[in-house]
Amino acid sequence: MQDPGRNSRKADGVITPPDYIGRFAPSPTGPLHLGSLYAALASYLQARSKKGKWLLRIDDLDSFRNVPGASDSILKTLEAYGLHWDHDVVYQSQQIELYNSALEQLHQQQLLFPCICTRKGLIKYHQKNPGPAIYPGFCRNKSLSENQPHALRIKTENSEITFTDQLQGGVIENLQQVHGDFILKRKDQVIAYQLAVVVDDHTQRITEVVRGIDLLDSTTRQIYLQQKLGFKQLHYLHIPVIVDKQGCKLSKQTFAAAVDPKSASSTLHKLLILLKQSPPDELNKAPVAQQLDWAIENWNPNPLKKIRAISQ
Ligand code: GLU
Repeated sequence: MQDPGRNSRKADGVITPPDYIGRFAPSPTGPLHLGSLYAALASYLQARSKKGKWLLRIDDLDSFRNVPGASDSILKTLEAYGLHWDHDVVYQSQQIELYNSALEQLHQQQLLFPCICTRKGLIKYHQKNPGPAIYPGFCRNKSLSENQPHALRIKTENSEITFTDQLQGGVIENLQQVHGDFILKRKDQVIAYQLAVVVDDHTQRITEVVRGIDLLDSTTRQIYLQQKLGFKQLHYLHIPVIVDKQGCKLSKQTFAAAVDPKSASSTLHKLLILLKQSPPDELNKAPVAQQLDWAIENWNPNPLKKIRAISQ
C-alpha cells in the first residue's frame, strides 16, 4: 500500500504537504479501551481516506491523572491495530514554552485575569444560586496580587461563536452565557486542556479534529481561543461515544476494559461495525492491514450523523 501520509509532488516538481492533517490525542490515564480506540480509528480513517497525515499527540499535562506506563501501552496498542502515525509523537509536557507564550499573547490583549476562587467556594455559590453553573466573575475586576496562588482565567464576550460540525450540524453558542470566563492555567500551574489543545492543533497544522461527542461542548471555547490567538479555525467532526449497558460512556471511571492487542482482527471488525461501515463478514478474521485497506477505501462517516451514543 502506498504511504498515504507522504508529501505529494505536484507536476511542477514543488513538494506540497498534504491538505489534510488529522490527529489522535489521548490522555495517558490508562490503556486504550474500546471507546478510545473507536475515536482513534475514526480519525485515522478520515485522514487516510483523504490521503492526509495522521499525527499522534499524548495529552500528558495533568501529572496527577497520568498513569505510569500508559503512554507506551497506548502506542503499542495503536501499532497492534495497524494505526501507524506520521512523524514523531508529540508529548504536551514538552511544549510548556509554547503554552506560556500563548498566555503572554493573551495577557498583552488584557484578556486574562488571576482568580483565587476555590472549587469548593464556587460549588457552594452555585448551590445557593441555581441556574447555569458558569463562573460568576468574582475575580474579573479585582486587582489581585500576583503573589497569591491563583488560576488564570480568560474573559469571555457576550457574542456568539458558530461552527458547523460535519456530523452534528450547526452550533451557535454565547460563550459568556454558557461557560463564562474559563481557566487557562490552573492554580497548581497546570496548563488547562482548552489552551493546550488549541496551541498544539495550530502548531501541528491540524486541519480537522475528529473526536468523541463528549468534547463537542469544548469546541466553542477552543474556537474563541483560536480567534484571540489569530489562529485559523479548524474543521470539526464529532463522532458518537461508545456506551455500556447502563448507557454510561466507556471510560476509566466506568472501569472500561483495556482492548486486547492479541484480538486485534476481531476487535477491529467490531469497531468498523460500531462506526456503521458495514464491513464484509469475511473480513472478520482478516489481518488488520487488510481490514484497514478496505475501511479507508470505503470510509463514510455520514451514517453516524446526529447519533450521540452507540452501545458497545
Ligand atoms: N486528550 C483528550 C482526551 O483524551 C482528547 C483531546 C482532543 O481530542 O481534543 O479526552
